[in-house]
Amino acid sequence: MAAHMPAEEFRRHGHEVVDWIADFLERVDTLPVVPEVKPGDILAMLPDRAPEQPEDFSVLMADLDRVVVPGLMGWQHPGFFAYFPGNISPPAVLAEMVTASLGQQGMMWSTSPAATEVEMKVLDWLVDLLGLPQDWKMAGPGGGVIQVSASDATHTALAVARHRAQEEAALDALVAYTSGQAHSSIEKGARVSGFRHLRLVEVDDQFAMRPDALERAINDDRAAGLTPAFVCSSIGTTGTTAVDPVRRIGELARKEGLWHHVDAAFAGSAMICPEFRHHQDGLELVDSYVFNPHKWLLTNFDCSVFYVADRQPLLKALSILPPYLRDSASKGADAVDYRDWHVPLGRRFRGLKLWWVLRSYGAEGLRDFIRSHISLAQSLAARVSDHPRLDLVAPVPFSLVCFRHSDGNEATRSLAEAINRSGHSYVTPSSIDDMLFIRVSIGQSKTDQEHVDRLWELVQANA
Ligand code: PLP
Repeated sequence: MAAHMPAEEFRRHGHEVVDWIADFLERVDTLPVVPEVKPGDILAMLPDRAPEQPEDFSVLMADLDRVVVPGLMGWQHPGFFAYFPGNISPPAVLAEMVTASLGQQGMMWSTSPAATEVEMKVLDWLVDLLGLPQDWKMAGPGGGVIQVSASDATHTALAVARHRAQEEAALDALVAYTSGQAHSSIEKGARVSGFRHLRLVEVDDQFAMRPDALERAINDDRAAGLTPAFVCSSIGTTGTTAVDPVRRIGELARKEGLWHHVDAAFAGSAMICPEFRHHQDGLELVDSYVFNPHKWLLTNFDCSVFYVADRQPLLKALSILPPYLRDSASKGADAVDYRDWHVPLGRRFRGLKLWWVLRSYGAEGLRDFIRSHISLAQSLAARVSDHPRLDLVAPVPFSLVCFRHSDGNEATRSLAEAINRSGHSYVTPSSIDDMLFIRVSIGQSKTDQEHVDRLWELVQANA
């Protein structure tokens, strides 16, 4: 039998670990936002072989500072404006520790009634908190499930759409649609779920999908003997947070019999504030929807919420019941077996951290959090607009500000490089067609006015 850590030692080390975490979170803004290491530096600090003999826990802790911290990207740094945020929060971190300790495998109701029912209830709460259709609650025809990532959820939606469409058409003939600005996970999901045809539909001057172009593409495909089967709208694209016209796409999808999925991975969290819900107008015309509390709702990765308006096509596509997973509870109408709601069988008790976040901050606390970022972004956008050598390249519906230097790509690139050399602010450049621009994504757990001001000073000094 392995020599387990005795309970008293576990308690002591547990306190040390929590102290270390609290110190790390307090000093994270004093660390460089981008790690100052080259490929291979961390590898070189690690031995080539695993230890034969047990090592003392104090050595493991010391290596956190020696090996790990120097190689950390500043995802929790308040000057991290790159990509989209990956929020954490103290209640979610503590919940992760509890989840790990409980060691639940919630694949079926019977293998963890608590993990299953907490998740069901918390996702029902979110339907009300985000103003989503009531049918998506567990008591309705639909329901929600926590998946690892938005990519997984979109892949699931594509697999269900394919399964449904294959009842009437050959796999080779099925076509999926999304806008040319949609996230790459739609293309990847289409590929792994067997779609041979994916159309990237034209966008308008605000980078939102054009429903007339979608309609034309559907008609062209039908004329060519193909079968349109799936469309994904985005509420908040990754490039610029463009919002597709969900209602018009939904009406078209209904008319044409397409599965309509919505990717709101980043911007979905904003819907906790009623004043942003006009961006999700038309959700009652949607078959499935994903958003990531692990981006912008203070809930550590992984926590991606996937809703379906009707759970039957999902269960039909994914339910397989081998003898070793049969039990009497699963036959009851009230028991939800989440293994049928996604590809993996095993699943963590992820609902706990979302439950603790919602209760620790309260809806009002979360609204304040989202509103503070959106207001910081609006005032940064106003400063950019007023600057003689900077141009906004897209509207700012949420908390992503996209701008470029008016002298063009080279000047924009140099500006981004100057920001990223600062050590305290980090942005990602991106491009649409040949136009390079800088994305400033405001959404870190601790980002405040002073951090945006510091970034703006850098922009002014280098623009
Ligand atoms: N969809 C959008 C709009 C995104 O911005 C992203 C990531 O930034 C994703 C999907 C993929 O998210 P995940 O990492 O959860 O798969």
